[in-house]
Amino acid sequence: TDGAQLPVLVIGSGYGGAVAALRLAQAGQNVAIVEKGMSWTTAGSDGKIFCNMLSPDGRSYWLRTTTDQPVSYFMGASYNKSISSYTGVLDSEHFSQIRIYQGRGIGGGSLVNGGMAVTPKQQYFGSILPSVDPAEMYNTYYPRANAGLRVNNVDQTWFESASCYQFARVGRKTAQASGFTTTFVPNVYDFNYMKQELANTAPRSALNAEVIYGNNYGKNSLDKTYLADAMATGKVTITPQHVVTSVAPAAGTGYTVTMNQIDTSGNTVATKTVTAQKVFFAAGSVGTSKLLVTQKATGKLPNLPSTVGTGWGNNGNVMVARQNQAWDATGSLQSCIPVMGIDNWADTGGPAFAEISPFPAGIETFASLYLAITQNPNRGTFSYNSGTGGVDLNWQQAWNGVGIAAAKRIFDPINAKQATVYRTDLFGSNKVWGDDFAYHPLGGCVLNQSTDNYGRLQSYPGLYVIDGSLIPGCTTVNPFVTITALAERNIENIIANDFK
Ligand code: FAD
Repeated sequence: TDGAQLPVLVIGSGYGGAVAALRLAQAGQNVAIVEKGMSWTTAGSDGKIFCNMLSPDGRSYWLRTTTDQPVSYFMGASYNKSISSYTGVLDSEHFSQIRIYQGRGIGGGSLVNGGMAVTPKQQYFGSILPSVDPAEMYNTYYPRANAGLRVNNVDQTWFESASCYQFARVGRKTAQASGFTTTFVPNVYDFNYMKQELANTAPRSALNAEVIYGNNYGKNSLDKTYLADAMATGKVTITPQHVVTSVAPAAGTGYTVTMNQIDTSGNTVATKTVTAQKVFFAAGSVGTSKLLVTQKATGKLPNLPSTVGTGWGNNGNVMVARQNQAWDATGSLQSCIPVMGIDNWADTGGPAFAEISPFPAGIETFASLYLAITQNPNRGTFSYNSGTGGVDLNWQQAWNGVGIAAAKRIFDPINAKQATVYRTDLFGSNKVWGDDFAYHPLGGCVLNQSTDNYGRLQSYPGLYVIDGSLIPGCTTVNPFVTITALAERNIENIIANDFK
């Protein structure tokens, strides 16, 4: 409520925010979370909370009148659809040369993501977070994150015969035939539930083309795990549909935080100001970076370091699809939850980890789709635009050439061995590479550069960053387990030292 005096305010309810809220509450603190997106708990007129990918409606996208699908062409023609403008669950945020997909709602990215819960190989950890002790991460914080997230593994015997994973088995077979290593990938989706979906004993979600616009069943998103545990302490409140716009030192102690309450059309219905003694930025890599560069440039937090807004990367994301031979059908029923990756990170000529992605068209397409994570060293910078009052990101599409080159080191040999070709009709007309969007934004307020080694914004005691913006651009695999584990590490130190 307007004028509230709060001990702790958390901005955003994704991975970083959820970890901070739970651990602070367990340490006895009262915590208020504010979240820009909706509380996804009420069913629509179809009886479901979320729509699926085959028949998207307003619930799919954040304030768009047409869908903006990652794979947005088929046979070279756009197959985006008209939808009503609504504060939907997936945001495709456009910067000049990149679209960045993000979740919106209580649970952040966990509402829309593929649930792939990957702990990076320890040998690569030094390249991910060089100032963090790997031993404590692998002994304590990664296990703690995996437990809190309720990570589980697919039953490998079931996998071998499940029709909904034929696409993954074809992806594995064609990769192994060219000498590549494939690996099963853990997930937060409940695989026992998925078995029931396939057996037709439970309503279908992953097997009903649900994932990037939300899962109605089966997925242990943060609202079912960390945030539910946080609420159960009785010390946490979560207020949806509130967008934080400014943070500045208060007249006495603490910080004055201003926010707009919005309706489902995105219109401001009220503006509120609260005072918080401690504020955690957990608005995600893009959201936190935008807030911080704006506060610095507009004189609200002028002493933030000049590195704020720098060090942004896309986790090397590029997407591509191959067309398989007629004897390698990928299946008309595909689980939207990926369970397998091609691990070519040891290739020093161009490391890549490629997730074998579903392509849930509802029909046989013979296509294999992949999301590659690569070691792209290019880094973008967010900057405040005084003309528009918005924030720009200077990322260049051409910088993805590095990612494409790394992905080709996997898929050119596979195509050569299989006598197959890349699809050219899915990312545009005659366009092979999905190189103009990212699922894995990372960085913008890098640990031990813009903050201390635990996420403190040192020029402003009581301000902290605790989300993907701390990670300098690449995690070698899908990022949310690392974001969660780093948040677990940092909040433990912050509670021990700053909440005495
Ligand atoms: P987020 O989870 O993005 O949370 C930030 C929250 O802050 C959001 O809820 C946002 O609405 C809110 N917010 C933003 N600005 C404000 C503001 N001004 N005021 C109030 N609230 C605000 N990662 C994996 O590891 N495995 C996967 O399989 C995977 N698949 C993905 C698939 C898709 C389609 C997408 C989009 C992402 C995927 N990711 C995956 C990435 C993963 O979801 C993100 O890395 C992760 O969610 C980032 O966590 P975070 O805590 O930094 O921020």
